[in-house]
Amino acid sequence: MTAMSAPRKLFVTTALPYANGNFHIGHIMEYIQADIWVRTQRMLGHQVNFVGADDTHGAPIMIAAEKAGKTPQQFVADIAAGRKPYLDGFHIAFDNWHSTDAPENHTLARQIYLDLQAAGLIETRVIEQFFDPEKNMFLPDRFIKGECPKCHAKDQYGDNCEVCGAVYAPTDLIEPFSALSGAKPVLKSSEHFFFKLSDPRCVAFLEQWTQDGRLQPEVANKVKEWFTVRTNPDGTQSEGLGDWDISRDAPYFGIEIPNAPGKYFYVWLDAPVGYLASLKNLLDQRGESYDDYMADPALEQFHFIGKDIVTFHTLFWPAMLKFSGRKTPDSVFVHGFLTVNNGEKMSKSRGTGLDPLKYLSLGMNPEWLRYYLAAKLSARNEDVDFNPDDFMARVNSDLIGKYVNIASRAAGFIHKRFGGQLGAVSADGQALLAPLQSACPAVAELLAEREYGKALREIMLLADRINEYVDQNKPWELAKQEGMDARLQDVCSTCIEAFRLLSILLKPVMPSLALQVEAFLNVAPLDFASAQSLLGAGHRINEYKHLMQRVDIKQLEALFEPPAAPEPERLVPGGEELAPTITIDDFAKIDLRIAQIVNCEAVEGSTKLLRLTLDVGEGRHRNVFSGIASVYRPEDLVGKLTVMVANLAPRKMKFGVSEGMVLAASHGDEKANPGIYVLSPGPGALPGMRVR
Ligand SMILES: [Zn+2]
Repeated sequence: MTAMSAPRKLFVTTALPYANGNFHIGHIMEYIQADIWVRTQRMLGHQVNFVGADDTHGAPIMIAAEKAGKTPQQFVADIAAGRKPYLDGFHIAFDNWHSTDAPENHTLARQIYLDLQAAGLIETRVIEQFFDPEKNMFLPDRFIKGECPKCHAKDQYGDNCEVCGAVYAPTDLIEPFSALSGAKPVLKSSEHFFFKLSDPRCVAFLEQWTQDGRLQPEVANKVKEWFTVRTNPDGTQSEGLGDWDISRDAPYFGIEIPNAPGKYFYVWLDAPVGYLASLKNLLDQRGESYDDYMADPALEQFHFIGKDIVTFHTLFWPAMLKFSGRKTPDSVFVHGFLTVNNGEKMSKSRGTGLDPLKYLSLGMNPEWLRYYLAAKLSARNEDVDFNPDDFMARVNSDLIGKYVNIASRAAGFIHKRFGGQLGAVSADGQALLAPLQSACPAVAELLAEREYGKALREIMLLADRINEYVDQNKPWELAKQEGMDARLQDVCSTCIEAFRLLSILLKPVMPSLALQVEAFLNVAPLDFASAQSLLGAGHRINEYKHLMQRVDIKQLEALFEPPAAPEPERLVPGGEELAPTITIDDFAKIDLRIAQIVNCEAVEGSTKLLRLTLDVGEGRHRNVFSGIASVYRPEDLVGKLTVMVANLAPRKMKFGVSEGMVLAASHGDEKANPGIYVLSPGPGALPGMRVR
């Protein structure tokens, strides 16, 4: 590296994931982007604290917890318990993972609020809102439904219509109802707390803060529009920044506002404070002072976020920090969304996309994904597409074909022929290595600028040069030639030196592979400064072990195979499978006749059976036992018509001979559905008529 400047002191976060579900691939992409950056800074010698936390408050979590039969605290604790397999699995090395419901966050959020109040930036206003009289709570827009006032589509949300796209206030809905209880909501007024973002001090500060070059240009341009025009909830537009409603009424899972019983901070007020709370928790664990750390003017603060939460991080958050007398972020790094397969929006309902845990469970190497996503990421706010064919090509052709193969082609000879010892590198080898060494600072700089795609392209160009050298010198042929040992050692040593230089550059992207490489090369942990020297003749390397598998197409096919559709719950009629198909001839064998119940009586010694005396128009009566005593009284059946199987072979029973069978309906699961229903023909049927 060129003259190393004093180590920087960096505080880095990713956006806090909402604790109502597991991570999806979009979270993992953001964490990988931030993790590569943090590792790069550390390899440059800088000090970094890299923290995350669960965003735990708000109505959606409160309602989800109630549905799940848990307290909100238990609900978010259960979500938090599932975070580790993702983070460890993809080598995402946060220094701390915390929660916005932790005591540090309660204290910090309340103090920030009190400081804003002291600065004269908090005011209260009475507003009218829909209230669910059954649930006894004010309803967030998303929990009010009704008929769209424009297109009259039914069952639309309180803020916009999914059918015609109209944007409106919940009070515009026709026949509104609470999505929680179904009750008709009533308008109720309540005092709300506002952060006065429209205050000239805030506007002046934000106009400067957002436009002074700290933000990505495309982000700064977008933010600029908000200073001139904003869209109101009812779809109309107003001039300039609007004040921000920061309170919600009880019941609410959140942090109670100081000196305002029953009022809570809106979740978006305390969520970003969670960055500070997680940092404080980390420093407390280490016995370091949070106040001293934050007071250091050299401290730089960076947030990695997605493009959907730019407003919160470029307006509300810096203004909250500034006017509560705190340090504001040095920058906010905004990334786009991750799409899969030609920009198809990832859909939860389809359940496809790219499931991170499924990826890991298929034995796919997490560093393939880190490498691939890095190859697609830039410093700009633009969407990234995961394309399976491209993924396989980049991993197999570039990463393994160009990089890993350098080591596998050279290491065997060094080990077998030279006892693992590197030899002297001659002039042509020096001519290969010197430009590689001098290219390293520029590549490190690209990584530090979050231009990962450009950095990896540069690294692959360097790998191409090394592979040309290998192809020109053909170590496998040198190995067969008499008297070429010194040259073989020279060429293979050059390859190992070159491989080491590439490994330094790839280490932030593939930290686990780098550990294997360090063990194989028998070197101390690689950093960027170590690119300025070579291992040198006499250095002993360890035996080469295979570093990385290729992607198998079958893994990709399995990854994107839609989850097996749940076996549709087949409706079993009457609780019982249909019997196998029979022919009409089979049916004709059963002689069903209308029978009149001329007498019916209980059977002594049986609680189940009734004795029926039946007239089937034969000039005689038949005696039939039927298991219907539990549901019919004998006197209710006398005189009724029913249907019987008239050609059933007579059966000798404990109480006498049964000469046929009366038809009755019952459910397959008689315990759950105990009814038995004796069949009876429509009016006009006479005893002896055949049923066909
Ligand atoms: Zn509509």
